[in-house]
Amino acid sequence: MIVVLKVGSPEAEVERLTQEFLSWGLSPEKIIGKHKVVIGLVGETVEMDPLQIQEASPWIEEVLRVEKPYKRASREYRQGEPSEVIVSTPNGSVTFGEHHPLVVVAGPCSVENEEMIVETALRVKAAGAKFLRGGAFKPRTSPYAFQGHGESALGLLARAREVSGLGIITELMDAADLETLAEVADVIQIGARNMQNFSLLKKVGAQDKPILLKRGMSATIEEWLMAAEYILAAGNPNVILCERGIRTFDNKYARNTLDLAAIPVLRSLTHLPIMIDPSHGTGKWEYVPSMAAAAIAAGTDSLMIEVHPNPKKALSDGPQSLTPERFDLLMQELAVIGNAMGRWIVEPAMAAV
Ligand code: PEP
Ligand code: MN
Repeated sequence: MIVVLKVGSPEAEVERLTQEFLSWGLSPEKIIGKHKVVIGLVGETVEMDPLQIQEASPWIEEVLRVEKPYKRASREYRQGEPSEVIVSTPNGSVTFGEHHPLVVVAGPCSVENEEMIVETALRVKAAGAKFLRGGAFKPRTSPYAFQGHGESALGLLARAREVSGLGIITELMDAADLETLAEVADVIQIGARNMQNFSLLKKVGAQDKPILLKRGMSATIEEWLMAAEYILAAGNPNVILCERGIRTFDNKYARNTLDLAAIPVLRSLTHLPIMIDPSHGTGKWEYVPSMAAAAIAAGTDSLMIEVHPNPKKALSDGPQSLTPERFDLLMQELAVIGNAMGRWIVEPAMAAV
């Protein structure tokens, strides 16, 4: 249920109402929008009559029922106003959101050594990326495949952050690593395989680093939004949704099926910012540029692109990684589309190294 307050509602009245809703056994959440204050009510509201709630204060404009199973993640919960995920990085704060410039996240699948991560960071930064991605803990299908360098790779990410000033996005697989990882990560990634690891979602929801929630490879959009709801319900409002391709009947020529229709679908259902990962989405670097361009045209708020200084030698996901040179070129191409969509801040000429 959402309680929309009239413009100019006194702060004391908002506080009084919050206390009243608490006394009814509900969990009120104050949402301050650009124009109005809304109180989100989650709890046993099924039996409640919106008209009865309306009588609680003359300052209530309307009371609306959120029919969707995901309440806090729903577009209605914020009265249609998109949320902004603001991340502070050494180079300044970066905002993910519908009315903000497109944010590009780039870097290798795994952090392999200091030289490669620092080189990649500097190259992707020069091309216009705002975040460096790189896995320290890798979720690999085979237990015999490279598992990531773990904690020591976090140290290398910290070094790359210091040298480049880029924000860091890296994946958390085990709650036991949360504290150490959060010291380095500006945004914590929850990977496709852990999208429904509910205890992990509750833990990252109970801390305040922003979360990048990748879509599970067989997850419906509703399951994905319910996973986001776990994080929001635990108290962390900063969630970015990343589409990274889903399993369909056909994986012969592309690793996954990149669901670009998820962009307008999510836009209509949720206020959360959207990211597209065409690297895992296709599994082949050759297909990354067209899907990245299409994602911008379809209205994504951000992109995640795998870049490796020597993809042929990469310890994971080499076939889908762009070289820094190809990434430079791609950024110049994307700038044209980004500018046309009114979502770019780096001028094409400046994108060249
Ligand atoms: C990754 O980003 O390297 C990764 C493992 O992604 P996903 O969870 O989408 O497979
Ligand atoms: Mn990868």
